Amino acid sequence: MYQQVKESLGATLEEIRESGLWKSERTIASPQSARIVLAEGGREVINMCANNYLGLSDNEDIVKAASEAMQQWGYGLSSVRFICGKQEIHEQLEVEVSQFLGMEDTILFAACFDANGAVFEPLLTADDAIVSDALNHASIIDGIRLCKAKRYRYANNDLDALEEQLKQARADVGSGRIMIATDGVFSMNGTIAHLGGICDLAEKYEALVMVDDCHATGFMGQTGRGTHEFRDCIDRVDILTGTFGKALGGASGGYVSGRKEIIELLRQRARPYLFSNSLAPAICGGSLKALQILSASTERRDRLWSNTAYFRRRLTEEGFSIPGMDEPHPIVPIMLGDAKVAQAASAKLLDNGVYAIGFFYPVVAQGAARIRTQVSAGHSEADLEEAVQAFVKVRAEVGW
Ligand SMILES: *Cc1c(COP(=O)(O)O)cnc(C)c1O
Repeated sequence: MYQQVKESLGATLEEIRESGLWKSERTIASPQSARIVLAEGGREVINMCANNYLGLSDNEDIVKAASEAMQQWGYGLSSVRFICGKQEIHEQLEVEVSQFLGMEDTILFAACFDANGAVFEPLLTADDAIVSDALNHASIIDGIRLCKAKRYRYANNDLDALEEQLKQARADVGSGRIMIATDGVFSMNGTIAHLGGICDLAEKYEALVMVDDCHATGFMGQTGRGTHEFRDCIDRVDILTGTFGKALGGASGGYVSGRKEIIELLRQRARPYLFSNSLAPAICGGSLKALQILSASTERRDRLWSNTAYFRRRLTEEGFSIPGMDEPHPIVPIMLGDAKVAQAASAKLLDNGVYAIGFFYPVVAQGAARIRTQVSAGHSEADLEEAVQAFVKVRAEVGW
């Protein structure tokens, strides 16, 4: 039986290769950091493509806290929450996350992918509606697919388009629930959602607001709470989803934070919570330490923002086209246009000691290929200047 499937799978794999869309993974021979060692050739390169915004991925205090949590609480729970229950460290993390984000309660998941897969179905039925940004993360799209609510999509971060869809949704569902779903920061270009306008429209059309803040938690806003703080909307967002796998240490794990009743219902009904294992104690301990570090000092946030300003300014001075200069985010896309050029540039950058990845169709629009770089608090100004010089050199070689 398998022979037939094998052949057709082989054909699909060949198709992926031929269309230039094959993703090959590099092996890293060091901890995640501003500079990493690649297994191939044992070369050290500047890492410009990690979500390690605050430089915490190899932080010694976090590693120590995670080890201690493992010593105290064991390696794993071997159970979902509703069967064996939780440990104090899970409870503590839920309380601390709620406090940090300024939300009423928090429920932990194995990943934010699961959090987004969990959040819609228990809250919305076929009589309700979800109005979703066209550039939302894949996990939001999948979460919406798992839920029976009517679906509406609006052009990325376009408040007029959102209003049109809300009007339609309200007409269609009558007194049913409506939920607006958006990323806080859109990861392909670092654009920040217009949460103020979104919350205004939510009030006007009596909708709930759900924000996925994976690329903002820990550093956006005055105290690093995220996009809702940056946009001065802390009490207006009903649901915030996020990850421990990016700025907050970068291990794994996710959560839904929000209104008390919403979280309570998710504990009763969310399938990835009911049918998937509890977060490992080590990750709880590490994440708690990450939150502590961020609450104790603004040093890492300050460094991230000064690094971001430096990198964006220097690239602009060298004549590169960088979107989002009016609202800078550490995601810094260098626009190239052509997919092949982006791939060639990425390879040449690596030859010059800079690790950054090209993104092209279908991940971004046709003709909008780019190299996406991400600044970290862990970078030194010298690292960033070296990266800028590599871009200048590679542009001259590849030509764009
Ligand atoms: C990374 C990311 C996720 C997934 O988070 P994990 O915890 O890695 O599963 C979800 N949404 C957005 C916007 C992300 O960037």
